[in-house]
Amino acid sequence: MSIEDQIQQTRAVVAALHAELPRWELVVWTAGNVSQRVVVGSAPGPTDLFVIKPSGVTYDELTAESMVVCDLDGNLVDGTRAPSSDTAAHAYVYRHMPSVGGVVHTHSTYATAWAARGEPVPCVLTMMADEFGGDVPIGPFALIGDDSIGRGIVETLQGSRSPAVLMRNHGPFTIGRDAKAAVKAAVMVEEVARTVHIARQLGDTIPIAQADIDSLYARYQNVYGQQPTHTPESDS
Ligand SMILES: [Zn+2]
Repeated sequence: MSIEDQIQQTRAVVAALHAELPRWELVVWTAGNVSQRVVVGSAPGPTDLFVIKPSGVTYDELTAESMVVCDLDGNLVDGTRAPSSDTAAHAYVYRHMPSVGGVVHTHSTYATAWAARGEPVPCVLTMMADEFGGDVPIGPFALIGDDSIGRGIVETLQGSRSPAVLMRNHGPFTIGRDAKAAVKAAVMVEEVARTVHIARQLGDTIPIAQADIDSLYARYQNVYGQQPTHTPESDS
């Protein structure tokens, strides 16, 4: 596939995935964004590009054509609109985490409420052990405008199995091998933040032993969902 075709396909994927944010009630107005890496060479590297939402466009106006293409320094490469104001944070993650192919940011209510308290969501659900491999961690307080949000995301996630970080006083950023996986993590982090919040209203939650968290995580990540039930997609 040519790089132009790859960019076009990624634009379509990223535009379509933005519809998942209001669908799962993760966003109000234009406050949330999805991006996906476009791998230029044979492996992720510094010449890669990524596709992200333009700034300030409502979700029902988003089309593949309105998506913008940026380099890994966050500079606009192709597109008629300004990139999302969170582009620098997405770019920093792609520069420093080569295995990451997708990034999502929202201010979803329950996850952001934990961020407002600066409190990690404790791993008290088997689905949290499956998806996050432990607590959902808190990242540092950081202001928009330089690398500090991206640096906080990367430093927190590199020390964790979680694909989600709750940036303090701000909200969740999630990563995945592609944008769809990062969107799934954004949906799941809101779900577990909501459930654990509700559990807390009625009493104390019960921790899961670390050995059980480890075994749940290993099983879910290595076995569940990876049965060869479909033919791998052709690269042609
Ligand atoms: Zn934000």
